[in-house]
Amino acid sequence: MKTNIKAWWLGHSAFRIESPTGKVIYIDPFLSENSSTPDQMKNPDDIDFILLTHGHEDHVGDTVELAKKTGCTVVAQVELSRLLIKKGVSQDQSIEFNKGGTVDFDDFSVTLVSANHSSSFGGEYAGEAGGLVISFEDDICFYHLGDTNIFGDLQIYGELYEPHVIAVPIGDHYTMGPEEAARCCEMIDAKIAVPIHYGTFPVLKGSPDEFKEFTEEFCDTEVWIPKPGEQFLGK
Ligand SMILES: [Zn+2]
Repeated sequence: MKTNIKAWWLGHSAFRIESPTGKVIYIDPFLSENSSTPDQMKNPDDIDFILLTHGHEDHVGDTVELAKKTGCTVVAQVELSRLLIKKGVSQDQSIEFNKGGTVDFDDFSVTLVSANHSSSFGGEYAGEAGGLVISFEDDICFYHLGDTNIFGDLQIYGELYEPHVIAVPIGDHYTMGPEEAARCCEMIDAKIAVPIHYGTFPVLKGSPDEFKEFTEEFCDTEVWIPKPGEQFLGK
């Protein structure tokens, strides 16, 4: 697959992506307390955008500290965005939106879509959990499913956004496990699926190899299993 995007999986649900013009995007930057993130990647200082799927600690992670340090733009659902402002993210750097909404930047856009999960932040209501569809201009579409179980709208998202690469939670317990995740791949019909949200904590026991086996059985989507910290696009 030809792309000018660079992408690294940082463990759990966290990604670093560099757009074709070099904009640095972090998704769900749970880094400093993330046992699977390599040490040298726990405290980045070159961030332009942070995009969040929902308010749970293993997704918001270091957002407030990183936003203060780098001055990056923080994109989140409306309720979560307002809670982050109360915690010290400035209004100027915050962009709130909601499901179905798209925000456009220089060379990419982000659409918030549904996920079937819950959301809270610091014990407060943080809206609903979502997924993020990131479309790069003249390049690929990357769909991060967030935390979710299988649900019927995934089929529509597959048809509507035609994502090339999807990030799919497989860990079980707090999200779906490998077999259900493989059925999601069948519904979305992307070229490549990357398993996420497994192995970070003992209860997240879903295995990426099992996910790969099920996916190969159900559909043509190729499963790539990067190591935490590994660059898997644009090498
Ligand atoms: Zn989670």
